[in-house]
Amino acid sequence: MKITTIYDNYRCRDDLHAGWGFSSLIEINGKNILFDTGENPETTLENMERLNINVEDIDIVVISHEHHDHTGALSEIIKKHPSIKVYLPDKLLKPTKIIDGVYTTGALGTSPEEQSLIIDSEKGLVIMTGCAHLGIVKIVQTAKKYLNNGIYLVLGGFHLKSADKKEIDDVIEKLRKEGVKKIAPSHCTGEKAIRMFEINYGTDFIKNCAGKIIKV
Ligand SMILES: [Zn+2]
Ligand SMILES: [Zn+2]
Repeated sequence: MKITTIYDNYRCRDDLHAGWGFSSLIEINGKNILFDTGENPETTLENMERLNINVEDIDIVVISHEHHDHTGALSEIIKKHPSIKVYLPDKLLKPTKIIDGVYTTGALGTSPEEQSLIIDSEKGLVIMTGCAHLGIVKIVQTAKKYLNNGIYLVLGGFHLKSADKKEIDDVIEKLRKEGVKKIAPSHCTGEKAIRMFEINYGTDFIKNCAGKIIKV
């Protein structure tokens, strides 16, 4: 399985744009799943081009939640690839299998309702979040309960940008307790929380940014 971060507040390569938002491509079992689309369609499409990702090759789009920094390029993507299948967060959608090995948590929380992706990999669960508005710990616990497997990696936006040190320490401790092995926070996680994760996780911290490729 290969995960490529397309759109993020941070970039790993000078030839890619950074921007407030998130988008990531998961290549698994012969399928390409786009998780969120970023905010600015030009940024998303230019970054895709530079990462050799063809919109026509994407099979499924999963939208975490209906905030513009995650849905901004959706209509451009549909225009370029009208038959693409789109999963919007839907309160009626309980934890659901999307394709073999890939699941959505279903829409959790309120204002906004948000879904996260769970990938059941050989190394354990990989959990991908958009903004984690309802709390990253709750999402991880829900995923674990649903799939009953150890957690290998959690990545995406953790929405801790306004959290203080005590709150962030608490989140890190709880994720450790849930057995999260590797961590790749980005987008709305906030500089302070990202630094604290880096210190706590050491070599198991993965710096996430546009252009990052993670192979599991
Ligand atoms: Zn949001
Ligand atoms: Zn966001």
